[in-house]
Amino acid sequence: MLTTDIILTWIHDFDKKISEKKDYLSELDTPIGDGDHGNNLARGAEAIEAALNKETPADATAALRAIAMALVSKVGGASGALYGTAFLEMAKTSRDTTKTADLLAAGLAGLQKRGGATTGEKTMIDVWAPVVTATKGGQLTQKIIDDAVAATKPMRATKGRASYVGDSSIGHLDPGAVSSGYLFTSLLEAGGA
Ligand code: ADP
Ligand code: MG
Ligand code: MG
Repeated sequence: MLTTDIILTWIHDFDKKISEKKDYLSELDTPIGDGDHGNNLARGAEAIEAALNKETPADATAALRAIAMALVSKVGGASGALYGTAFLEMAKTSRDTTKTADLLAAGLAGLQKRGGATTGEKTMIDVWAPVVTATKGGQLTQKIIDDAVAATKPMRATKGRASYVGDSSIGHLDPGAVSSGYLFTSLLEAGGA
């Protein structure tokens, strides 16, 4: 269940991980992208912290919406629109349910609608999809997250900037998959899954 408290603990921890891993995430984006993923998300993490400090969200919907707005407005690049859409869809769904599996499924549906990618295309979808499946079964584990992230390495990118380098994308982790891995590790640690 995603209560307001769990959402805030989750996101504060994610923001912390992003600022710690900023350089690493941008390094991952260098051979197969434009080297900005960590910097993009670090800007988003700062904006989320600023928004949540300015006004304590009244409920889960307000919290998820504030996170979405910070991401959409402050993160340049594909990942801002994608993560922003995911949190916006979670915010909408949170009016009807606080079940983690339902919220993450709504976020994934938003991501897929926005980016047009499916599994196996070497994007953050390759982490979101197995995490949603595991959460529905009530058994998300760190191993499931880590395996999903690692599985992007041998994939050939067919969506996003990494698809421009074709076969050269093979053998590199997808940066958005790695940052999504941090997102779900933080969720596990916050007791939300
Ligand atoms: P940009 O590519 O605009 O510089 P980022 O570097 O911040 O944006 O984000 C890149 C990440 O976004 C990729 O590693 C991938 O996980 C994700 N991504 C890109 N395009 C898509 C898409 N169509 N669907 C899902 N995820 C995508
Ligand atoms: Mg990039
Ligand atoms: Mg970019």
